Amino acid sequence: MLTEERATSVNANSNGNDQTRLSVTRNGQIYEEPLIFERSHPGRVGFSFPEDDQGLEHELGDFLREEDSLHLPEVSEPEVVRHFTRLSTWNYGIDLNLYPLGSCSMKYNPRINEEIAGLPHFRDAHPSLPVAYSQDVLKVVYELQDMICQLTDMPAVTLQPAAGAHGELTGLFLMQAYHRKKGQERKVILVPDSAHGTNPASCTLAGYDVKELKSTRQGLLDLDDLKQNLTPDVAGLMITNPNTVGVFETNIRAIADLLHANDSLLYMDGANYNAIIGQASLGKMGVDVSHLNLHKTFSTPHGGGGPGGAAVVVSDRLKDFLPGPQVTRAKDESYALESAEFSIGRMKSGLGHFGVLLRACIFIRSHGNQMGAIAEHAVLNANIVRKNLEEQFQLASDNDSMHEVVFSDSKQKKTGFSTMDLAKALIDYGYHPPTVYFPLSVHGAIMIEPTESESPETLDHFSEVMKDIAARMQAGDSDLSAAPHRAFVTRIDEATAARNPVLNYFTK
Ligand SMILES: *Cc1c(COP(=O)(O)O)cnc(C)c1O
Repeated sequence: MLTEERATSVNANSNGNDQTRLSVTRNGQIYEEPLIFERSHPGRVGFSFPEDDQGLEHELGDFLREEDSLHLPEVSEPEVVRHFTRLSTWNYGIDLNLYPLGSCSMKYNPRINEEIAGLPHFRDAHPSLPVAYSQDVLKVVYELQDMICQLTDMPAVTLQPAAGAHGELTGLFLMQAYHRKKGQERKVILVPDSAHGTNPASCTLAGYDVKELKSTRQGLLDLDDLKQNLTPDVAGLMITNPNTVGVFETNIRAIADLLHANDSLLYMDGANYNAIIGQASLGKMGVDVSHLNLHKTFSTPHGGGGPGGAAVVVSDRLKDFLPGPQVTRAKDESYALESAEFSIGRMKSGLGHFGVLLRACIFIRSHGNQMGAIAEHAVLNANIVRKNLEEQFQLASDNDSMHEVVFSDSKQKKTGFSTMDLAKALIDYGYHPPTVYFPLSVHGAIMIEPTESESPETLDHFSEVMKDIAARMQAGDSDLSAAPHRAFVTRIDEATAARNPVLNYFTK
């Protein structure tokens, strides 16, 4: 508690501008760290020039100080470096340990991606450069278009969308354009109750009405329910496959045929593509449009929010409406930008998030014809966790798990502890919690996606920790209600924290 007292007394002194606050360690060499603005000390600068350049130094310093409205912190270079390095030690990331967030595919991001993305002609490329000076960049995008079409067995793709949800909106606009060209204004999209929250949200944003379909006890779509709801005003069905219970929709082709007989379209949310990459043909499933989250399946770091990217693949029905421009290749092997005949227009400036596209391209290239092994290992790893934990935790579905395994809280409920208690306790053992309370169709859901990156030893250790917490719950260990005990922040009011964030936590 000594350190806490020190923190409080130092905090009390840190109101004035001229009092910078010291960092205090609470946990060995992990430092509490104030905001960089609280380190500010009038007149302190992060640069210095030789004596005879004093005029320049003063001018620059005066300029920065006069720009009062910017409120820039006045700190030295080592203070800046320490500040950000200390903050970086608070981060949990895939480079530290397993990151089992279900539906998020927090896989290892290979260093080769960063090495190549850092090459000057990629790093420094400007989106406004004329096509003649952007041939390297265009070639990457062209190759990625081609590789994604081959991987998915679909005829065309756009790489413009900024992330999965943006890909959904793009796909829905394409569906709208398809029906409008036929003079139809279809208003309804069918969405199963196990859908990711972004699905109904994107439908609403695109101006559609959402009609919810029920899942069967196996976690699959109820075909009879689909038939009953397949009215002439249905533009399409938006289904996640493998779905959010981690189960492959075995009726996908039958679903596509039913839809097509009604001239409705099949949107397959492909965020869980890691389970089937290199193993399955979206074309043969009868998919009309699907987004693949490049930052998930194709390895861009995406903890903390972005940037992301999505490839939206489409069937022949939709390819003439794709956002423009696309990258094309002429006979002389030069690359150009062209728009599809009935293009819905741009969804994003430039070529989309090129840095993400480049990493996806490198990821595919470096796996070559071994892409299918990614899915095999991702599925194997989820099933190792499933097997390890199926006695202590209640499986949400009896069907085979694909790349993630979902448990409900029904075995823990009787102990008085919740899924949230489990998630918080995992932090004390050094693990990031899995996705919890999603999908909504599973009570107290615990959704674990290990990805292909993990070794069996890591998965076994994680499973032992999960079992240990389950045993402590059975034994009524009251310490669990206040976990985590070893983190800077313990139980925060998460709803208020999201709406009204207090960023300078240590000074309040
Ligand atoms: C992640 C995810 C999305 C949304 O993708 P973002 O890239 O986060 O916008 C949509 N559907 C499913 C099933 C997902 O897992």
